[in-house]
Amino acid sequence: MPKKLSTEEISLAQALVSKANRIVVTSHKNPDGDAAGSAFSMSLFLASIGKNVTTILPDGLPEFLQWLPGYERLVQFDTQTEEAKAAIDEADLIFVLDYNALHRTGTDMQVVLENATAQFILIDHHQMPGDFAVVTYSDTSACSTAELVYHFIEQCYGSEKIDQNMAQNIYCGIMTDSGSFRFPSVTPDTHRVVASLIEKGLDHALVHRQVYDTNMLDRLKLIGYALSQKLEIIDDSLTAYISLSSDELRRHNHRQGDTESLVNQALSIKGVKLAAFFRETNHEVKLSFRSKGSFDVNKFARDNWNGGGHMNAAGAATTLSLPEAIQKFKRLVQQYRLEIINS
Ligand code: 5GP
Ligand code: MN
Repeated sequence: MPKKLSTEEISLAQALVSKANRIVVTSHKNPDGDAAGSAFSMSLFLASIGKNVTTILPDGLPEFLQWLPGYERLVQFDTQTEEAKAAIDEADLIFVLDYNALHRTGTDMQVVLENATAQFILIDHHQMPGDFAVVTYSDTSACSTAELVYHFIEQCYGSEKIDQNMAQNIYCGIMTDSGSFRFPSVTPDTHRVVASLIEKGLDHALVHRQVYDTNMLDRLKLIGYALSQKLEIIDDSLTAYISLSSDELRRHNHRQGDTESLVNQALSIKGVKLAAFFRETNHEVKLSFRSKGSFDVNKFARDNWNGGGHMNAAGAATTLSLPEAIQKFKRLVQQYRLEIINS
């Protein structure tokens, strides 16, 4: 089992929840399966014990996550700003799930969270959690925040409180953040949690189908284009990268989440140890980094791009133009060449 909460932390968390009249549950910008699964499972749990809960995400979910139980109660900060602001202002308690610093919600939501009078409970598996929460349940060895949400509920209230709808969400978080149970972060405990979720009525085959087998033809064509035309290899540094401009994305009717798996495809090439993906948006370039072995992309993203994440999966955003970002990346790859090769 991942890190245990101390007796004091359990009492503190129980007291915070019990005395809170209004609770807000949040996760990070560009929410993925773990962000959504963690936020919805925690919201459903809090509602089940009679709490007034608002789930707030900075922006929208890709379609393949919109079926998750609890989605219907989502308040989106970018499009329902006034409602979201009011809920945060009126909250007594705010859950911070799957992110370690308030700026990960984007500048607008960050400001509102910073001015909130509520107390915070943080549950996360990213490195270097901020110290703004009254209870911080952080374990960087956990494969997903959803797994920590399971253990938080288990330790504070008992796992029998987790129902089928919460189970679907927790499983979605574990499955997507563990690369469908393939990353080294998966432990016997991860599988024990999943076994218990199946006993609670989890339909794991449905979660897989909804997340992985609901591609639009445009998405497959975009991935085909990216792999056949835009995949570049830097042979002497065992590095592969893909970039897509906003024009290329537009031409393929790009929708949020369409490029989710591309960087992993680049990493899957035999011998490649570092992969990157560049996606141009209206106002920035989003970067994704992945590595096999010991090259620490979290540190690479932190030190060079003001980003972060985990040792083998990290991300960042830059205001450089797409060609400038690619040039900078190529320069850095030469600089880190030996470290990558020897990783
Ligand atoms: P992805 O490449 O899937 O967008 O993100 C991979 C990992 O990097 C995730 O754990 C995510 O939390 C982290 N990450 C992605 N974008 C950013 C960013 O802009 N800043 C920071 N600090 N972390 C990021
Ligand atoms: Mn996560």
